[in-house]
Amino acid sequence: PTATNANFIRTIIEGDLQAGKVNKVITRFPPEPNGYLHIGHAKSICINFEIADEFKGKTNLRFDDTNPLKEDTEYVEAIKEDVVWLGFEWDGLFFASDYFEEMYKRAQLLINKGLAYVDDQTADQIREARGTLTEPGVNSPYRDRSVEENTDLFGRMRAGEFGNGEKVLRAKIDMSSGNINMRDPVIYRISHTHHHNTGDAWCIYPMYAFAHPLEDAIEDVTHSICTLEFEDQRPFYDWVIRECEMPNVPHQYEFGRLNITNTVMSKRKLKQLVDENVVDGWDDPRMPTISGLRRRGYTPEAIRSFVRDLGVNKGSGFVDSRMLDHYIREDLKLKAMRTMGVVRPLKVVITNYPEGQVEYLEAENNAENPEMGNRQIPFSREIYIEQDDFMENPPNKYFRLFPGNEVRLKHAYFIKCNDFVKDANGNVVEIHCTYDVETKSGSGFTGRKVKGTLHWVDATNAVPAEFRLYEPLILDVEEEAEGESFLDHINPNSIEILEGFVEDNMKDAKAQDKFQFFRHGYFNVDPKNSVPGRPVFNLIVSLKSSFEL
Ligand code: ATP
Ligand code: MG
Ligand code: MG
Repeated sequence: PTATNANFIRTIIEGDLQAGKVNKVITRFPPEPNGYLHIGHAKSICINFEIADEFKGKTNLRFDDTNPLKEDTEYVEAIKEDVVWLGFEWDGLFFASDYFEEMYKRAQLLINKGLAYVDDQTADQIREARGTLTEPGVNSPYRDRSVEENTDLFGRMRAGEFGNGEKVLRAKIDMSSGNINMRDPVIYRISHTHHHNTGDAWCIYPMYAFAHPLEDAIEDVTHSICTLEFEDQRPFYDWVIRECEMPNVPHQYEFGRLNITNTVMSKRKLKQLVDENVVDGWDDPRMPTISGLRRRGYTPEAIRSFVRDLGVNKGSGFVDSRMLDHYIREDLKLKAMRTMGVVRPLKVVITNYPEGQVEYLEAENNAENPEMGNRQIPFSREIYIEQDDFMENPPNKYFRLFPGNEVRLKHAYFIKCNDFVKDANGNVVEIHCTYDVETKSGSGFTGRKVKGTLHWVDATNAVPAEFRLYEPLILDVEEEAEGESFLDHINPNSIEILEGFVEDNMKDAKAQDKFQFFRHGYFNVDPKNSVPGRPVFNLIVSLKSSFEL
């Protein structure tokens, strides 16, 4: 895949420009501030910003805040932060709610034209009378109200004379249309609810399907790009633009939304995870939110390449979650310092190493990127290795430490296991080894070979660290059984917390610093829970994957 991936929207825009249908390109990213953005939104963000950029156009960030019940300024701020972090700069920053007066006028225009009416039916009655795909709908008994009566009632709806749900304003189109969305859709509802931006100025709010085309037209958006579930709304979108006599005529185009395996991708579900404390907030590193991915350690570059290589098409299948891992490995491969961390420590005493002596060994920071230079790491009589790098009775082909076996310590010496100590429960708690000074790393020693290379951390200078290892949040299921929800498939092992050690030169690691721990994987310094002298490392991704691109 390359930067010029399949993108049918690019083809459309090129055609529009060539044919003179448009002379500029304006797109928008229109989140509803009712939750944090997830990686699906990142796809929409990249498509909108990158396509406009390609044609020297503009992109607005517009908050689609027409449903006050679920919206909040906390979400507005989080969304702005995420868009910036992903690397994009909006041209205009707008709130749909700033257009409420204009939308009201356009609704009144529809009333004047005999194209909208106030309906007193309940929501249930309206739904019931809408009909089905095979059955036409039934006209409302209030459908033929006069322009005067509708004007009066709509004005009184706005003035707050009626309670929630007592009346709605509907477009008057065609109750037998083959497209159910055209069967007199509701365009205004009553909701006595405080709005995060307009406060208590309004008690009627426009419905999304009516508001969205108007917002696009008001901002002179040329290409309104959305996801496939809005395809059936396009005729109504065009109807609103035409009948509301908007001077600018935007057009809607739909692409397939991004779905990823082993996670959920809807703000409603993500909010449920937060509210029910399944996770530790919207930015929990297991969440597919942009803020969760950032805290986990994913980079904007990796997310953008991932999304770009998926292309823009009409398909909406599931993408394997391991595909994103491929991109973060690629991005960090040459950038992240390669260092050593022991996540399940086991002490090793090097019995022939002088007590009290510390020497400093040279270690390259990234074997694949010499520009990253070298560092000095301490080595002394006591070190830590991983518990599973020692076995009392190893199986065949186990090349790590066991009694009588010799291994290489990365950047240091060969050590040979002579003895071990068990506690009262029979657990091995300490290994006794001897080292061979001749075998020092970098000395050119060729006297004999060993098959295993272990990572380690010097015990005297080790920095205590917490490691948080992650697995997917949601388990693979073929299909949800009747009455089940995604909450029934939460992976009970999605997080494992371990207490270990890292090299002493990492005691000053800063929030969001990223490292490759030799033989483990890529880790990010957690920005919330790390404290000076005791960093917390989030596993971003392990080193190897079974997944092939
Ligand atoms: P959710 O159902 O997750 O709340 P939404 O579509 O309601 O998503 P919006 O805030 O309305 O969320 O979305 C803003 C923009 O992002 C819309 O244009 C929407 O189509 C797009 N978008 C949302 N989810 C995805 C996805 N999974 N893949 C691609 N684009 C998406
Ligand atoms: Mg939504
Ligand atoms: Mg939605």
